[in-house]
Amino acid sequence: MIPDWNWANDFLKGGRKKYERPLYDRRLRIWKTNKWDADSDINIGHAWNLINPLVTYHKDGTTTIQAPTYPHGWSALRGYSTRFTINRYAGIKVMQRNFKFYLEEEDAPLSPPKIQGCRMCKQSGLIDSWCSPVTCWGGRNSNDRKCPEHPDAVLRTGSGWHDLPCEHGDYRGHTVTKGQPCYSCGGAKKRDYGSKPERTQWTGTPLRLRDGKIIKSAATLLERMVADYVEPIG
Ligand SMILES: [Zn+2]
Ligand SMILES: [Zn+2]
Ligand SMILES: [Zn+2]
Repeated sequence: MIPDWNWANDFLKGGRKKYERPLYDRRLRIWKTNKWDADSDINIGHAWNLINPLVTYHKDGTTTIQAPTYPHGWSALRGYSTRFTINRYAGIKVMQRNFKFYLEEEDAPLSPPKIQGCRMCKQSGLIDSWCSPVTCWGGRNSNDRKCPEHPDAVLRTGSGWHDLPCEHGDYRGHTVTKGQPCYSCGGAKKRDYGSKPERTQWTGTPLRLRDGKIIKSAATLLERMVADYVEPIG
């Protein structure tokens, strides 16, 4: 469930002052905009920056998210804690890529599939792998410093193990050209580069949500885009 005004109001009622209290999470605080107003907006922000709430709940069930940009253009969205807080308390993901920020709604519509030859394996279905020699511990308990299974092997001093050559006859690790199925396409040689969730670029200016979704009238003012190169960041 995405937190909303009712949740925040109940949480405040459980505190001593009824209009502000710590959230007991990541040094966040929760407070009313107008402490004398029973229907006041309720804010969540970092305890050290109460003039810049990140999430504001309204009694009508909508939520405003925002993040300040400081002098020299440093956006608070660059802080992981800011993105995490908005995600947790407003129910929308904030992602960072190349110093730009994107919002991704839960169950966001997907772009059309785009099946193309796999770029990872150049459509061979295979990629290079790494082959390591094997360690044999057969001589661990021997008194004559010999491995019973490999009598010619020279045991490592003081430990009783020795290397076995790999299947290619090497005693050292080495790459094997096209030695394993491609993990990007699973060996299929093609993969879907489409089917990415739609994301909205965002600079941190106040934006109204309902149930974790950008309210349509607000969305039309923003650049809605399919940023297919943006990978989620935790
Ligand atoms: Zn051995
Ligand atoms: Zn090998
Ligand atoms: Zn591949």
